[in-house]
Amino acid sequence: MSRKRSVVDADLDGRRVLVRVDFNVPVKDGVVTDDTRIRASVPTIELVLERGGRVILLSHLGRPAGIGYEEPFSTKPCADRLSQLIDAPVRYVRDVCGKEAREAADALEPGQVLMLENLRFDPREKKNDPEFAAELAAMGDVYVDDAFGVSHRAHASVVGVPRLLPSYAGLLMAKEVETITGMLEDPARPFVAVLGGSKVSDKIGVIDNLMTKADTILIGGGMCFTFLKAQGHGVGTSLLENDWVQRAAEMLDKAAGCGCRLVLPVDYVVADRFAPDARTEVVAADAIPADMMGLDVGPRTVSAYAEAIAGARSVFWNGPMGVFEMPAFEAGTRGVAQAIADNEEAESIVGGGDSGAAVNQFGLADRMTFVSTGGGASMKLVEGESLPGVEAIPDAR
Ligand code: ADP
Ligand code: MG
Repeated sequence: MSRKRSVVDADLDGRRVLVRVDFNVPVKDGVVTDDTRIRASVPTIELVLERGGRVILLSHLGRPAGIGYEEPFSTKPCADRLSQLIDAPVRYVRDVCGKEAREAADALEPGQVLMLENLRFDPREKKNDPEFAAELAAMGDVYVDDAFGVSHRAHASVVGVPRLLPSYAGLLMAKEVETITGMLEDPARPFVAVLGGSKVSDKIGVIDNLMTKADTILIGGGMCFTFLKAQGHGVGTSLLENDWVQRAAEMLDKAAGCGCRLVLPVDYVVADRFAPDARTEVVAADAIPADMMGLDVGPRTVSAYAEAIAGARSVFWNGPMGVFEMPAFEAGTRGVAQAIADNEEAESIVGGGDSGAAVNQFGLADRMTFVSTGGGASMKLVEGESLPGVEAIPDAR
């Protein structure tokens, strides 16, 4: 992928700069409970301010009905949090692009920030409505896209606005795209990918593409059982996608053909039901009892995976190894995260919403080279697909 025109090269002095951010953060009782995504865009916001720009922030948050203002999805808590993180006044207006928003944008001085309301309060955002894009664009002179997490969506603020204004990639956006595509194009070897999560069907494209790039793929999580079934083993009451068994068998063959080692767990932690206090047991991969379900990879698997990770020079990780939300089934995910953190010589990239949450839960985020802020978007990149939000920004000359 060619380099995109960067905000670093934009003339921002005195300009009204529409910055599309991904402040899609969890909020409880009007307070942001995880500000990772807000912090991630602070460097771009500060750069625009330092260059004499007026920052107008556009974001979505959650899944509102698209019928106007709904308090639980308001961006006001984001504005409050941001004002604690930067040394500049952060104003907020309860409007997306109507008269109040326009007036607030016009009143903004250089060095100030304005947070508009949730773009998805207007149903035209997700429909990529050109009039909505024009109303947003009318509030700014320049557009900067720092919302990597939503760049796989062809929404009005992502692809419509950059058609109408001089457009640039923000620092976070550039870093995300360059880090992920850089690893795929020219990884230090051995390149080990660790893939887990719930379903094979969600990750088929990722496995398919990584197979042609990685030396080893370590598989964990709920998707194991579809592979296990493809190898002719019983999976008990584990998560299984029957429609994908055939495809999983083909992938095992294909991996063998392209010189990528596709590794499955040798043991599992099984439980009698899906509950934190279930009765558990560790069993070999070919001995899952008919009435039990695999909810984590077992200790022998963790050791084997940790050893493979220790020898890697690049690691890409997506998808928890087990149901890490329950303490009884977090050891596999924790073990893998720890092994990646301990390998200080490797470049390590973590992609995916739940994997990122797991790394934060274990307090290991700082020990990874890069934790992507985009779940779906990072997966699309790893699948080898282009992202509409990235395509919308002109290439650097
Ligand atoms: P990511 O968001 O990192 O891409 P996914 O959304 O694909 O990851 O999967 C995360 C979910 O997978 C977690 O909620 C976790 O509980 C679940 N999961 C992992 N292992 C299993 C398993 N053995 N059985 C059922 N669910 C699992
Ligand atoms: Mg997820």
